[in-house]
Amino acid sequence: MRKTGRAVTRVVLLLLVSLVVVAAFWFGFVPQRLSPFSPLSLDEPSSWFLDARLATLRHDAPLCHAVLSAPNAVASPISPRPYKDGCGWANGVRISSAGGADIGLNPITCEMAVAAALWVKHEVQPVALEMFGKRVTKIRDMGTYDCRNIVGSKRWVDVRSQHATANAWDIAGFTLEDGRYISVKGDWRGSKAEARFLHEVHARACRYFRVALSPNFNAAHHDHFHFDRGAMWRCR
Ligand SMILES: [Zn+2]
Repeated sequence: MRKTGRAVTRVVLLLLVSLVVVAAFWFGFVPQRLSPFSPLSLDEPSSWFLDARLATLRHDAPLCHAVLSAPNAVASPISPRPYKDGCGWANGVRISSAGGADIGLNPITCEMAVAAALWVKHEVQPVALEMFGKRVTKIRDMGTYDCRNIVGSKRWVDVRSQHATANAWDIAGFTLEDGRYISVKGDWRGSKAEARFLHEVHARACRYFRVALSPNFNAAHHDHFHFDRGAMWRCR
């Protein structure tokens, strides 16, 4: 009986330790020097343990800014905005170009900017080239920072949006090098190549962003994609 009790205690302890380790990686509290994973590079296509490696950049500004470098991204650090009433940001950047496309985001967290650069370079551009034979030259956004709560859902109405900490990116559409504009609002539905492109790049975003919402999620997202790297996980 005593042996069974000890075994149960060991299993519970092991589970607790595992939980703490997973949470430490999830919230980015494992510094690079203690991480078993190599630092990310924008040159590499998506790799194993991508989420944990992105989260490591959250509290490590020098490492994050080193990753976010030319020619794959044009970005520079910005001053933090101290948190007040759940709004503000830390380790933020302004980023004007990622994966060869003009994206112009300011402010956005460095971790989000790296996820964005990886997604544009390794997913958006190859899909655009394959489907249209053209590169994406600009991604039109609908904002990153906004001191507000989550909208579109009664359940989350009292919860701060990831936009309140510049940890989110709303995308309206994509301009190709021939000037064609593919909009989430106008092209998401149907079976045209534009719709297939939007569905494909959205599906591929789910590895880089913990939350990747499309018009399929709810009416509040009928005209844009919402990507963030908060604590929740949703791909729809
Ligand atoms: Zn949003």
